[in-house]
Amino acid sequence: MQSKDTKYRLLSVMVQVPRKSLTEIPASIKANQTTNERRNEVIEAKVFIKENIYRTRYKQPDLKISFETHYKNKCAYCEQYVERWDIEHYRPVSKYYWLAYSWDNLIFACPTCNQDSKKEQFEIQNATQVIYDSKDLSNIHNLCSKYNQQEKPKLFHPEFDQPEEFLSFDAKGNIYSENIRGKYTIKTCGLNREKLSTRRKELVVDDFIKKLDDIIFITHEDIEKCLIEIDKLINDFAKESKNQKKEFLAFRRYLLKNIFPQIIIQKMNK
Ligand SMILES: [Zn+2]
Repeated sequence: MQSKDTKYRLLSVMVQVPRKSLTEIPASIKANQTTNERRNEVIEAKVFIKENIYRTRYKQPDLKISFETHYKNKCAYCEQYVERWDIEHYRPVSKYYWLAYSWDNLIFACPTCNQDSKKEQFEIQNATQVIYDSKDLSNIHNLCSKYNQQEKPKLFHPEFDQPEEFLSFDAKGNIYSENIRGKYTIKTCGLNREKLSTRRKELVVDDFIKKLDDIIFITHEDIEKCLIEIDKLINDFAKESKNQKKEFLAFRRYLLKNIFPQIIIQKMNK
């Protein structure tokens, strides 16, 4: 069966998690007396205090709803749906203790990316490292953004950066990068862990190929019908790749642009 190679050269779309608005900071961390007290105690101790009264600030109902809604219940690093989740500190509290309750330093992540992989890792590329300055307290929820102008973090911030530009994948669900920040983020968050790569492949690639095989099998004597059905398949997949509620958006968009066109052509030329 013949096809036109150019037909499936599709455009890619960049994805990043939209930035959380400073106007929507949950009351439990914005102006809450208890949170302010805990923050002051942490600043005084010059270290994040690992006791429940400090951790329970992350379990407030308004914070929970805000993060689940904003991140569509997906981990910001691996893009999987999460049942159990953590409030992850982009800049770790082991060093940046004063950012323990800072809105733009908080990220929604799964325990595997956060506790098993990233932990307290946070390397910067330049020599500048910020230190605590009490003058910054009035701007506490926007400090991560300010610091990114001074320090050059290796880790992508899912709200400030466009990681997708620097990532590539293969059809087995493995992820790669030639970029220093891309490499660091993949390694630090364990984004090539076997279970995750397999899940990416099974959920997205295997499902697409099965549908494609079915179309080719059913329409094998009618090329016009076959092309129409493949167009529909591609359009549906492209639509899903823009749906913020779907898992693995970066992977889906990469496949659409770089891998599926070849697979379609190979299968149709058989
Ligand atoms: Zn994760």
